Amino acid sequence: MDFKDYITIIEDYPQEGIRFKDITTLMQNGPVYKQAVDEMAAFAADRRIDVVVGPEARGFVVGCPIAYTLEKAFVPVRKKGKLPRETVDADYGLEYGESSLSIHRDAILPGQNVLITDDLLATGGTVNATIQLVEELGGNVAGMAFMIELSYLNGRDNLNGYDIFSLVTFE
Ligand code: AMP
Repeated sequence: MDFKDYITIIEDYPQEGIRFKDITTLMQNGPVYKQAVDEMAAFAADRRIDVVVGPEARGFVVGCPIAYTLEKAFVPVRKKGKLPRETVDADYGLEYGESSLSIHRDAILPGQNVLITDDLLATGGTVNATIQLVEELGGNVAGMAFMIELSYLNGRDNLNGYDIFSLVTFE
């Protein structure tokens, strides 16, 4: 299946020069959404994952159904100030803008194998901050799975040594 057929590209959104990849059109097709999740879960299945971690909000859209499929835990990473209990935090830069991410301090036990998920790998800033949070808690990043990789932004170059899967690549 060519998942690209179901992803919509919006020029100059949310700002000029950005080609926004909209996965909501993929999600609107139930069988295609399921197939996308199944292929990402198949990558994870070989990697003895204990916990799936995803940054808000589109990391939930892919991470939750993968965790459900694997019958494993899902842990949310959220913008600073959104989680109700004690957190650890990490600052990061985006393809557009800057932000800070948080995870609950008790969400991952030392030595647990973690799959990090998000809809899209661009510069790698979001996933790098997520890795920092997971590793600060003692988790082992056993793999990362994305629906989309923008290879022209070279996010992968900042993620040396990690096991990365992406469903589709835009060059
Ligand atoms: P980055 O931190 O640069 O790897 O950016 C990844 C995050 O920003 C993902 O959570 C995406 O949802 C979002 N993002 C960045 N660039 C785009 C884009 N061109 N189209 C859609 N989402 C994007």
